[in-house]
Amino acid sequence: MTDLNMPEVMCDGADLNWAPVVPGIDLKRLFTSPETGRWTVLFRCQAGSFIPRHKHLGAGEYFVLRGRMDYRMGTALAGVYGYEPIGAVHDMTSFPEYTELLFTNFGPVLFLNEDDSIASVLDYELVNKLTSAA
Ligand code: ZN
Repeated sequence: MTDLNMPEVMCDGADLNWAPVVPGIDLKRLFTSPETGRWTVLFRCQAGSFIPRHKHLGAGEYFVLRGRMDYRMGTALAGVYGYEPIGAVHDMTSFPEYTELLFTNFGPVLFLNEDDSIASVLDYELVNKLTSAA
């Protein structure tokens, strides 16, 4: 028993639909929290796809399940875990081969234009919207 209002969650990723988020990259929503803004997804990234320049308005963490992700910190191959602190700015994150990664962000991610103005916001609400339409 717990006194928390949030229900326990267990979901089978195989039952969830992929939702496109940027060209060549889809996500499955595993968990979103309107209480904290946290969102946890599975990303599927086709070879040659990339995540544009962005800033984390909440810490993030990832675990690469398969493939390869190249970003500011270097190359992350299958089995690599990474922590991305609040405020981290990442220039293009690229996937030279088909890649799957588990990703959690504790708040929104801002996609930035060249001049650092905000191009778009990816937060738990958008994750919900994208995946409910999928
Ligand atoms: Zn990032």
